[in-house]
This record gives sequence, structure tokens and C-alpha cells, in this order.
Amino acid sequence: MNSRHRNLRSRIRILSAASLLTLLLGFTVALYISWQTLIRNTTGELKREACTTSTLVRGTLIDASKILDTARTRLEEALRDAPLEPKQAHDILRSVVEAFSIYNSADSFGLLLLLNQNGKLIARSGEYPSTPIDLSDRYYYRSLRDDPSRKYSIGKLRNAATTGKMVFHLSMPLHERDGSFAGVVAVQIDEIELTGTIKETLNGEQSAIRVQDPSGQTILLYPPPERAPTKDDPANMTLDRLIKESPAHRDSMRISGGTAGFPKTVYVGYERDPLFGFCSWSSVTKARMCRLFLSRNHILIISSLLAIAAIGILFLGLYRQAARLENALEDANLDPMTLIGNRRSMEAETERLWRDAARSGNPISLLFIDIDHFKDFNDIHGHEVGDRALKAVARFIQLSLQRPLDLCCRWGGEEFVAILPDTRQEQAVIVAERIRERVSQMTLNVNGVLIPKITLSVGIASSDRADRTTADELIRQADQAMLRAKAEGRDRTVVAAETKRNPETLTKPVGTGAVDCRNGCEATAGQAKRREQP
Ligand code: GH3
Ligand code: MG
Ligand code: MG
Repeated sequence: MNSRHRNLRSRIRILSAASLLTLLLGFTVALYISWQTLIRNTTGELKREACTTSTLVRGTLIDASKILDTARTRLEEALRDAPLEPKQAHDILRSVVEAFSIYNSADSFGLLLLLNQNGKLIARSGEYPSTPIDLSDRYYYRSLRDDPSRKYSIGKLRNAATTGKMVFHLSMPLHERDGSFAGVVAVQIDEIELTGTIKETLNGEQSAIRVQDPSGQTILLYPPPERAPTKDDPANMTLDRLIKESPAHRDSMRISGGTAGFPKTVYVGYERDPLFGFCSWSSVTKARMCRLFLSRNHILIISSLLAIAAIGILFLGLYRQAARLENALEDANLDPMTLIGNRRSMEAETERLWRDAARSGNPISLLFIDIDHFKDFNDIHGHEVGDRALKAVARFIQLSLQRPLDLCCRWGGEEFVAILPDTRQEQAVIVAERIRERVSQMTLNVNGVLIPKITLSVGIASSDRADRTTADELIRQADQAMLRAKAEGRDRTVVAAETKRNPETLTKPVGTGAVDCRNGCEATAGQAKRREQP
């Protein structure tokens, strides 16, 4: 097959691989940039949400501390006169709530509570009389009782014992005239109210908000939890530790390999409140980010995959067409019966071989081979056997050409041509004789009957330098030499008269043992002598 055509398929292969790789690379880079942009935007957004939450919680705590401060002042004033009666305490708490209701909606804060020094609920701003519940285990009470220097405390998120709502508390200590601990006044902060506001500021509700007090207790969660989180909540612990490790006041980070119950990878934005010391953070899991990424890039992904598939299909089609084209070219250049090249392929190849030989100034030889009395052969044995003989002769000629660049073709009918680049006349004679010998020795068995030997007449034309003659001229000379071989009795090789070296005829009928090598042919002499041996 022509190497130029073989190139076509490999070029298509290389081109398709290069195009697909380029497309894949572009696609990957585009997705990578998009992913990085999403992370940058999202972490920025998370920081903003953490900041908003922080501002909101701080504002609420400031408002709550104003209420508490007022309540505390009035309660301590009352305490100075006599021990506080539950009814008196209830009235004070209630009047404070009413006084502040012009600044805050009635729902912003839950109840105001008064706990005595033992943590018992004495009074609340709601209904009266209140059940004396023991709240001594509450952090907002314990922390103030145990640390007299504390001015306030923030309790963790929990279901309020009084209302059942999710609340956290801000509390302040009450002191007797002598400065001893007299109890705690606390305000319930309704988490739903806060998260309702936070929800409005969230970007597409992708993130989860958490606020932790300085001791690491959760005071706010969004989306609202099904149960109040415990201090041992794995998510709580992991983030608490990580945020403590990060010294920045406001930052974002990527946390990987969380503990059980915590997503594998989360992106977090957080802010530490400078006033109350609580930490607000907003987080989004990587799984959510991936979903967001896919939903934002699905058009790019689908169109890129389609483009890759389309290019793949296009190149596959091209590749198949190239293969078909190659096969067609091969068919067009092959002789269908003998399966060696036909005259057309020879003409194309000859030109190439000639140019190469002419450029290097090498000799070149050409053999014109004709089967003797083939018409008679057909008449005697039939065309079918004739065809088999033709195939066998073609095969023997091909097998006799040993150099990689040697080329043979079926010139037409029972004629063959062989081109021998870089071959002088003497060497060509050896090749011709080899062909004739092999063909003469071949045995064709037809239905158990051995067909008599086939002989060839071969004309040789050679040129010492390919650039001094043309292929057509050499074919013409070889053809003439072959005709002379016929005229001189067939079954022989004749060197063209025009061939510079040894312009005489060489005859060597195969099988007769007779060698006629007039005027030269040194290259065949030894061989010829050997043949003369019985
Ligand atoms: P010469 O020795 O002078 O070459 O005699 P010849 O009979 O070989 O030459 P001629 O040109 O008279 O006849 C060539 C014959 O080759 C004619 C044809 O029957 C036979 N031939 C050509 N092509 C084919 C083929 O494809 N198959 C068969 N079976 N025979 C073919
Ligand atoms: Mg002929
Ligand atoms: Mg013939």
C-alpha cells in the first residue's frame, strides 16, 4: 500500500487525539476556573453571612442587656428595702418588658426570669404565680454564681422549660446591698425570631449558620435543629477547635476530614464578636458546593461533552472513510487475480523509485517477463488452470525479488515487469535467472495430473545511472529485449542492446543445461557453469 495513504489514517489519528486532548484540556481549565471562582465567591459570601449574623446577634444581645440592666437595677433597688416577694418581682419584670415593648416587638424576646441565689425560679414576666422550677443546673445561672466577676453570661440553645420554645438566655447577676450574690435575672432570646431574620439575609439558603458563645456552647443554629445540640456534638467540637486555632478575627477556611457526624469537607466563613466574644460562622458542605457547581455549569458541561462526542464521531467517520479510501486505493493498485501490483501502481511507483535513483545517481534495472506459449497452455489445460499458473508465476517472481525496494507488477495478460533499483545489469541477470529457474521448477498439480513446466522469456534493460534515461525508455528497451528472447527461441534472458554494459544477448534456456553468454555476463558465468554439472 502506498505509504502516503497509510499516512492519512495515522494523521487522522494524531489530529483527532490532539483535538480531543485540546478540547479536554480547555474544558478542564474552564471547569477548574469556574470551580475556583465558585469557591472564592462562596467563601466571600460565607464571611459576609457570618458578619451579618454576628451583627444581628450582637444587636439583639445589646438590646437584651439593656432590658436586663433596667430590670436588675429595679430589682436591686427593691432588694435594698426588704426581701423580694414573688408578686413584687413579677410586677417589676412585667413593667420592664412593657417599657421596652416600644423599642422591641413583643416577640423579640421571651420571658424575663428571676432566679434566687439557689437557682429557683422566683418570678417571670409572663403569668403569675409561676411554678418554682429548679434552674440551678443552667449555665447562665451557674456561670454567674461561680464567678462573681462576670457581668453577664450567655446560655446555650435549649428548649425553654417555661415555654418549650428554642431559646438561649442572656443573664446578669443580682447583688444584695452588701455585694453578695442574690440571684440572676435572665432574658430568653427567641431563636426563631433571630433565624427568621438571618434567613432573609442568606444567599439561596445554601449555608448553615451557627453561633457559639465564648465557652463553645451553641446559642443559635440555622437551619433550626430538630433537637438542642449538646456540647459533645462532633460538629460543634471540630469547628470550635478549628476556629480557636485560627487567630484571625474574621476569616474563611476549608475543613477536611471531619469526625463522625460531621461532613467530610466544609467551607466555613466566621467572625468573632469583639464585644460579647461569641463566634458566628456560616458553612457549606462540599457536597452542596458540588451540586451548586453542577447546576451553574451544566450547560458548559453538557455542551463540552457533546462537542467531545461530536468531534470523536466526526473523526471516527473520517477515519473509517480514510480506511475505505485506502482499501479502494489498494484495490485500484492491486491486480485482483495475482494480488501483486497492477500496471497502474507500477507507473506510480516507478516514478518515485526513478526519482530516488536519479537523485542518488545509482544504477537501475528493469525486467520484462513474458510466459512462453501461454495461449497454448490455456488451450491445453483450460483457463482455470491458466489462472492458477499465472498466480503461481506472479508469486515466484515476487519471492525472487529479495531487496526491499525491488518491485514487480502484472503488466497485463501473461506479462510481468520487475524494477530493481540500485542493481546493475549483471545483478539483474542473476535475478532474472533466479526467476526463470524457480518458475521452471514449480509443479502445478491439477486433479492429480502434473502440469508440464512453464518457461519464461525475460528482457533486461539497465542503466548505470538512472538520471541518464527514463523509465519509459527502459521499459521499451526491456520489452524489445524480451521480444528478442522470443525470437531467439524463448525460455531465455536477453539483455537489451542499448544497455551500456554488455550490450550482447545472454541466452540460457532453463533445463537444457545450455548456457550461451556471449561477450561478458561474468556475473552469471559461474552460476551457468554450475548448471552444466549433471
Ligand atoms: P508467446 O510465447 O509468444 O508469448 O505466446 P503466448 O501464447 O504466451 O502469447 P500470446 O500473446 O499469443 O497469448 C497470450 C495469452 O495469454 C492469451 C491469453 O489466453 C493468455 N492470457 C492472458 N491473460 C490471461 C489470464 O488472465 N488468464 C489466463 N488463463 N490466460 C490469460
Ligand atoms: Mg505476451
Ligand atoms: Mg506469452
